Amino acid sequence: MGSALESRAVAHLRLAVSGTVYLRGEEGLAAEVACFNPTVIHDPDVVVAAVTENDVAQAVTFAAENGLEVRVQATGHGSELPITDGLIISTRGLDSLSIDPTTALAHIGAGLRWAPIIEASADLGLAPITGSSTSVGAVGYTLGGGLGPLARKYGFTADWVRSFRVVTANAEIVTADDSTNPELFWALRGGKGGLGVVTEMTLELVPLRTLYAGSLFFEGDAIEPAFRAWIDWSATLSDEATTSIVFLQVPDVEGAPPPLRGRFVLSVRFAYPGSATEGEKLIAPLREAAPVYLDFVGEMPTTAVASIHNDPEVGTPSWVRGLMLDSFDQAAGQAILDLVTPASGSPFVAVEIRQIGGATARDTTDGTSVGGRESRYTLSTIAGDPSTFAELAPARAAEITAALADRVSETTNVNWSVGLIDKAAFEKTWPPAIFDRLAAARSEWDPRGVFAFGPE
Ligand SMILES: Cc1cc2nc3c(=O)[nH]c(=O)nc-3n(C[C@H](O)[C@H](O)[C@H](O)COP(=O)(O)OP(=O)(O)OC[C@H]3O[C@@H](n4cnc5c(N)ncnc54)[C@H](O)[C@@H]3O)c2cc1C
Repeated sequence: MGSALESRAVAHLRLAVSGTVYLRGEEGLAAEVACFNPTVIHDPDVVVAAVTENDVAQAVTFAAENGLEVRVQATGHGSELPITDGLIISTRGLDSLSIDPTTALAHIGAGLRWAPIIEASADLGLAPITGSSTSVGAVGYTLGGGLGPLARKYGFTADWVRSFRVVTANAEIVTADDSTNPELFWALRGGKGGLGVVTEMTLELVPLRTLYAGSLFFEGDAIEPAFRAWIDWSATLSDEATTSIVFLQVPDVEGAPPPLRGRFVLSVRFAYPGSATEGEKLIAPLREAAPVYLDFVGEMPTTAVASIHNDPEVGTPSWVRGLMLDSFDQAAGQAILDLVTPASGSPFVAVEIRQIGGATARDTTDGTSVGGRESRYTLSTIAGDPSTFAELAPARAAEITAALADRVSETTNVNWSVGLIDKAAFEKTWPPAIFDRLAAARSEWDPRGVFAFGPE
């Protein structure tokens, strides 16, 4: 960016916004756009740390006038590649939250993570339908659909959105709901990006105070019978409950939880938004399937939802690939078992399979652009040792995909897919009809391509 531009246009931008403008090289820029994965370091031309909706609109105008592509970041949980040019609008400062207990509607600023929303909702006997980690950003997560520990009962989080406020590519501030700009509303509920900057989301909360939920850990010889039992048990489990498993190779390092440190374990996650008596009955077959090493399943307040999956709160270097599956059975289980154990040379700290279906398979009556409704399971492979990122992790993930090839879903969901960084995968990130309709919505709402979206 030229210095003449800097002196006039940037000075004007600085005066026009209430938040902070950072140019490349200025102190504070790196911290403002730090990512969850610390190996991804952004170095754009400009960052606007917005604190008002007007700041967002000013940033979009500035970017459009100066030929800079716009990207949006809240928490940085979704960043997989460094951003090296253009303008980033950081939404962290848009942290307003209000909840109307009579309508159960939460008005959520674009910078908020799930945790404060869950806390404020719980005070009113309500809960948002969240993801597994409560430090993920509510808006970024929901724009992709949002699959969490209660998914089979309540569906995708996007199904619960009632409206968005959006700064468009023309820097106009518009509402998108089922009667005003309904096509934009449809596109934002699952289409993720290239449509505008969401400044606020209105989400319907559900009446819920407690869950019967948590995780059972199995180790050693108990892993295989427990996993096999999970496959059969989950196939007939009520849609009221949601379950997943993860094979964990917990590193032998300072800070790892002592009972798990240095061990290979299977964690079976379970969440039932109903009575403890019924929940206990539902999970009983798993408790009886093999000796349980650690049992953390019980009644919990909704504020403890993050303890079901125990995702890391602090990001470390990671290599992540996800896909979706149409089915999962004992043959698939055998294929996975042979590839995820330490003895097999698996580079993965975590291999996770979530069962979906139930409410995730049913679109809302007004329709959403969420991908992944046809799938019944998700699969994620996560490596943590950077020396494995270039070859070992991709090679083993490819082996797992090949072993499951006959059941890998044709299309997927953007929060799981590598579609935003991989051209070949981009088109498969939504079912074809949704992909085409999203492309049309992006052309309508951002005809000049102000918002960068998808692989370069
Ligand atoms: C530890 C961890 C756990 C996760 N668990 C789940 C899970 O259980 N279920 C699930 O579905 N996903 C999950 N994800 C994926 C997560 O939902 C996506 O990475 C999501 O994009 C993160 O949103 P963010 O705002 O926190 O991240 P950011 O990196 O800040 O944003 C990600 C993207 O969202 C878009 N975006 C964010 N805010 C706005 C806005 N205001 N306007 C327009 N676009 C915006 C942009 O395209 C941006 O690049 C998880 C990710 C991590 C790292």
